[in-house]
Amino acid sequence: MAGAGEKPFRARQLSTHYFSRLAHEPAQWTDIPAAAREKLAAELLPELMSVVRHISCDDDMTRKTLWRLHDGTLVESVMMRYPDRVTMCVSSQAGCGMNCPFCATGQAGLDRNLSTAEIVHQIVDGVRALRDGEVPGGGPERLSNIVFMGMGEPLANYKRVVGAIRRLTDPEPDGLGLSQRGITVSTVGLVPAMTRFADEGFKCRLAVSLHAPDDELRDTLVPVNTRWKVREVLDAAWEYAAKSARRVSIEYALIRDINDQAWRADLLGRLVKGKPVHVNLIPLNPTPGSQWTASRPEDEAAFVQALEDHGVPVTVRDTRGQEIDGACGQLAATER
Ligand code: SAH
Repeated sequence: MAGAGEKPFRARQLSTHYFSRLAHEPAQWTDIPAAAREKLAAELLPELMSVVRHISCDDDMTRKTLWRLHDGTLVESVMMRYPDRVTMCVSSQAGCGMNCPFCATGQAGLDRNLSTAEIVHQIVDGVRALRDGEVPGGGPERLSNIVFMGMGEPLANYKRVVGAIRRLTDPEPDGLGLSQRGITVSTVGLVPAMTRFADEGFKCRLAVSLHAPDDELRDTLVPVNTRWKVREVLDAAWEYAAKSARRVSIEYALIRDINDQAWRADLLGRLVKGKPVHVNLIPLNPTPGSQWTASRPEDEAAFVQALEDHGVPVTVRDTRGQEIDGACGQLAATER
């Protein structure tokens, strides 16, 4: 603020407008002289991104937003309303460099990292839209959960994502004042970044996209496995659980006849039994051009049973947003 030739106390005023009042139009900043508003907006809170469109489905309980960033880059976020909570799924990168063959984002490659502000604004605008009654559907009007499960690998954009978590969870007006416990960071398993993340001291949940319990298959489903193996990824996950005192979530997309065999369920159960863990099975959302599809119901049920036989807590994820390409792994930001 001093650099912009303004009184330092105006920093708090601007921060209050952005994070507490969710007043993003300079015209709303009535405690700042009218003549200074546009200049401050241009220098300190420029319009970073604009909504290209919103698309809803699931009786308006799911809404996907396509954003255009200042340089023309496209990214997507998804809001999911439930009777008792609201979850936002946000992007940390435009595209993704991890190249998982079943994921739509992975097919297009990495465009670029998002800035902290670009990550944060997806959520700040979602909170504002909820407050202003702009999101159809019903249920609570307060955001309860954030999942870094949109486009990108959050731990590959480490500093911006950690910065975003601070802005989201710092008390107002320095941040949005959301709970760290309501935030989930999902990773393919970048082991050094997982270790570093464990040392940040956050109470966030870590989700690990395992998808296979054996290195031979995981090397093909999550190619970064050729660098960090199942054993190393799980060890880093247990370390995170110990340091955060939170259960780790193991994500496992069930792909018919690829990773859904009984022996793999049993092997997964043996790897994670007795650990602070929750296994989240995701019916695969088929992506265009892929031969792969979701498991048969009987194979899914057998997979669940095998994990339960090991005493492992397991749930099958409810799939939202399928017909708007807003479901897990479908965010590809194609302009149609
Ligand atoms: N890069 C991070 C976060 C983004 S993806 C990660 O991989 O964890 C969020 C979750 O959706 C991951 O578990 C990912 O493997 C899963 N996913 C991707 N494509 C999917 C698809 N087509 N069907 C089901 N889940 C998918």
